[in-house]
Amino acid sequence: MSEKPWHMATAAVHAGREDLVENGVHAVPIDLSTTNPLRDVESGGRSYENLATGGRPSSGDSAVYRRLWNPTVARLESAVALLECPAGRDTDDVQGVAFGTGMAAIAAVLTDCVRVGKPHIVAVRPLYGGTDHLLEHSILGTEVTFAAAEDVAAAITERTGLVVCESPGNPTLDLIDIAALARACGDVPLMVDNTFATPVLQKPLAWGASIVVHSATKYIGGHGDAMGGIVVTDSATATRLRALRAITGGLLDPFSAYLLLRGLPTLPIRIRQQQENAMHLAAWFATRAEVERVYYPGVHADESAELVGTQMSGPGAVLAIELAGGYDSAARLCSQLTLVTHAVSLGGFDTLIQHPAALTHRPVAAEAKPGGGILRISVGLEHTDDVIADFTQAFA
Ligand SMILES: *Cc1c(COP(=O)(O)O)cnc(C)c1O
Repeated sequence: MSEKPWHMATAAVHAGREDLVENGVHAVPIDLSTTNPLRDVESGGRSYENLATGGRPSSGDSAVYRRLWNPTVARLESAVALLECPAGRDTDDVQGVAFGTGMAAIAAVLTDCVRVGKPHIVAVRPLYGGTDHLLEHSILGTEVTFAAAEDVAAAITERTGLVVCESPGNPTLDLIDIAALARACGDVPLMVDNTFATPVLQKPLAWGASIVVHSATKYIGGHGDAMGGIVVTDSATATRLRALRAITGGLLDPFSAYLLLRGLPTLPIRIRQQQENAMHLAAWFATRAEVERVYYPGVHADESAELVGTQMSGPGAVLAIELAGGYDSAARLCSQLTLVTHAVSLGGFDTLIQHPAALTHRPVAAEAKPGGGILRISVGLEHTDDVIADFTQAFA
């Protein structure tokens, strides 16, 4: 690789594929081995020990058993880590650890806090419904304090192992000043769920976060056909997470790793076009009497608006609308749309709409649940004229 770091568009195309030419192939090989031949007992034992304690294999080492290590998964890990690595940071100290789903990735980070004896988590709402539920019910033995971003410093105790936030938040796209929050965390690691922004729009590590997580199921894959989760963090934390993954069995499967890696080259261009479409749609919704409020980063002149263009290079491609007619109108709209698909999830090439209070945020406590008139829209690659026509007929 050249001295100068690649631009995002180049990194998205080439990361994880650096050795393909040298190996005489053009497509990423999928290694489906569940077990790997061992040279001899001595070196096999050493490889096992290294991988089971979170190490990475040196060239020539056996991968031993797929749950410990898979080369196709490792390609995705190094690619996403490169995309999340801030300028000037040693790329060797920024590592990806991939899991079967986004929730498995988040669960591993929380379990690590319990393991190192710091089970108290401070969490800033709103959060993805699954993350909120996992924390609220202490399923992994964590203890949670939910706090507003400005109250995080006061909520931290000596047992606090992690501060958790999302920006933009799900589903109302609230933005958090990551640098300010990281300062408030002091020595406590800050985990940012970067699923909505992706590294194309925002690199939380550059603003002081210690851990980035993704549901790769969303924009990274981008095609609605593969699930995965990935944590990007420093090498010491990544080593502990790999050891935890090896023993709890959360490894991503190699075929999904292949599909997620196949999504990466088009990630910057998908985000750019979907964002342009979302900006167009947000402006159109703002003209409609049926829509009481549009939730989209930068639309409202609050203090978070200035984070668009700095912390986050653009507003992204997810927005939410609150209907004047409340729950009944929202429920009716979902059933009337014909081009836009009524389905949970986001970040794929097609436009999806869903009702957070009834679906993704169903497990969230009443005081933190989104309003019944709110619908979340993940804007896709269709021509906006066709999407607007569908909403127009559905409103009618
Ligand atoms: C979907 C999602 C998750 C969970 O990811 P899965 O891959 O579904 O397990 C976590 N955080 C955010 C922001 C999400 O949108």
